[in-house]
Amino acid sequence: MSARPNFEAKANAVRGFQKTDRQLVGHVPTIAITPVADGRTGAYEGNAAGTWKIAEKVYDLISNNVRLPDGTPVRVVVAPEIVYGARTGALAQKYYTEQGVGANIWVSRSWSYSDELMSAAMGIGSSEWIQAAYGLNQTDRPGAVWLKAFTAAMDEKKRPIFCIYSPDLENDQEPFSDYVSTRLLRFARCAAAALEMRGKNYLSVGSVSMGIIGSDVRRNMMLDYLGMGSVSVDMVAVKGRMDRGLYDHEELEKAVAFMKKFKMDFGAGKRPQSNDDLLRDCCKMTLIVRDLMVGNPRLADPAVGKAQGFKADVEFAQGNNAIAAGTQGQRQWTDLHPNFDLTESVLNSSFDWNGFRAPYIVATENDSKNGIGMLIANLLTGGMPQLFADIRTNWTPESIKAATGVNVSKIIPRGIIDKRNSGAGALDYAIDLPGLAKKSCAGNAACVWNTIRKDAKLQQKLIADSIKGTEYMAAILEYFPGDGLSSHYRTPGGIPMTSYRFNAVGEKLTCSVVEGETVELPAKVADHISRVTNSTWPESYWMPRGMTSFEYMSKIGPNHDANSFGLIGADMITLCAMLRIPVDMHNIDAADIFRPTMWDRF
Ligand code: MN
Repeated sequence: MSARPNFEAKANAVRGFQKTDRQLVGHVPTIAITPVADGRTGAYEGNAAGTWKIAEKVYDLISNNVRLPDGTPVRVVVAPEIVYGARTGALAQKYYTEQGVGANIWVSRSWSYSDELMSAAMGIGSSEWIQAAYGLNQTDRPGAVWLKAFTAAMDEKKRPIFCIYSPDLENDQEPFSDYVSTRLLRFARCAAAALEMRGKNYLSVGSVSMGIIGSDVRRNMMLDYLGMGSVSVDMVAVKGRMDRGLYDHEELEKAVAFMKKFKMDFGAGKRPQSNDDLLRDCCKMTLIVRDLMVGNPRLADPAVGKAQGFKADVEFAQGNNAIAAGTQGQRQWTDLHPNFDLTESVLNSSFDWNGFRAPYIVATENDSKNGIGMLIANLLTGGMPQLFADIRTNWTPESIKAATGVNVSKIIPRGIIDKRNSGAGALDYAIDLPGLAKKSCAGNAACVWNTIRKDAKLQQKLIADSIKGTEYMAAILEYFPGDGLSSHYRTPGGIPMTSYRFNAVGEKLTCSVVEGETVELPAKVADHISRVTNSTWPESYWMPRGMTSFEYMSKIGPNHDANSFGLIGADMITLCAMLRIPVDMHNIDAADIFRPTMWDRF
């Protein structure tokens, strides 16, 4: 029995900013491994060691490879003993509930009482648990018989289950084949992503930008599909903190000094404020949006407040435990104040004045439905920064020939999309990020990001190259009367890049995901496109695989998509299956599609 709380002590406690291990507050996503076997005496003993061996391999595979964006490894727990009947199943269920398990992988190399194990233990646990089953492909130990019986039982109970079975015969003393490890890791990455966002929030800074439907935050949709809450603050909250000086003034000086490392073009003619004031305002806005998202203990500290000239406030210091956010910006704010290009570009990057760190997900124009995609892709890749884009122009080789006289039909036979967002883009997209990892990850973004995360030298190079490749350029006052500093760079070509978009149809969500690659155009062509569009914005030219850019342009939903270096289409499709989100367009090979068995019954 738990001890009776000391209510008097609670009543008399002075509230403060509670320190936590991780910046975002929440239980670390936890995946259980449940070995099952035939309970008959003799059969059990004959299988026990081999069954635990499989469980051990699954444990090591997931523990060594699946990370959350802040670097925390996903938690993996294992059943107290092999589950072979109702009572051992109940023991596992009790343990998992205490451990806060959110996903479960059943593993077996033999027959077991498939339906009874799951039904006696309520399918082990909660209907919210995300489940997979792996059965060994062998002759004397036919995991397949159990696997098919078990997944059929799950289907009949309408519990989605992901089924993993090697096409080729396996030796369970050897490491998993690529096929099996790919599917186990895909399941684990997607389950971790689904669990990590549950119970956290989308922070809407402002409301709808210029009539863009994506920025209409649909609270129930966030909750129903993602298990996420939503918090709204009016944009005046940002102004209020700027005016009252409610930010860390020491950090502001650090930020301003850091941003001066970038090339800067403050524009010509009469500007709304001095160059220095503009840069300082953009940095203040960055600190404030971040503090609104994740909180800042310094703002609760009376000593810091006294030294820096603000009134410390525990409530304001809390933030909103926001795992993603969006800033409205246009128009009412930008008619008067600097735009959020510097804020979004820095927060979405993997670094700032405090060094290498997890990106904060911030959607331009508060396009929350694009923010959802950025959050999901960031989680699936274990923390890779994401690129918010405007789907600005479809360029065919014919249009380029007509405009510049240059024949690019060999470089871009299927055409390109100019993905120039209106001023903000994660700075990591100024460089060939997968190339930096130098390791053969075959387009696997999680592998690229794990490599960079472990290597401080690579991180230093990432930061130095991104700074070198970027110029901050003053906003066009016609669009942004309050000025602003746009992140301008040109993404290198030949890099695998996946585009995705979440769409709302009534109260339902759908997802589009298309893999392709970035394109390096001849300088004359790229310069022309830049000149006739807007040469202060981040430039990324992209060609889809297996379809023309025009097909993409025609079928993609809204005016924005988001993009991830690497090929993440198969992961995105698996995650959408976990979240019950239909995929309305994709270009992923049928062999790479991994969905619950129930999918095939429809
Ligand atoms: Mn836009």
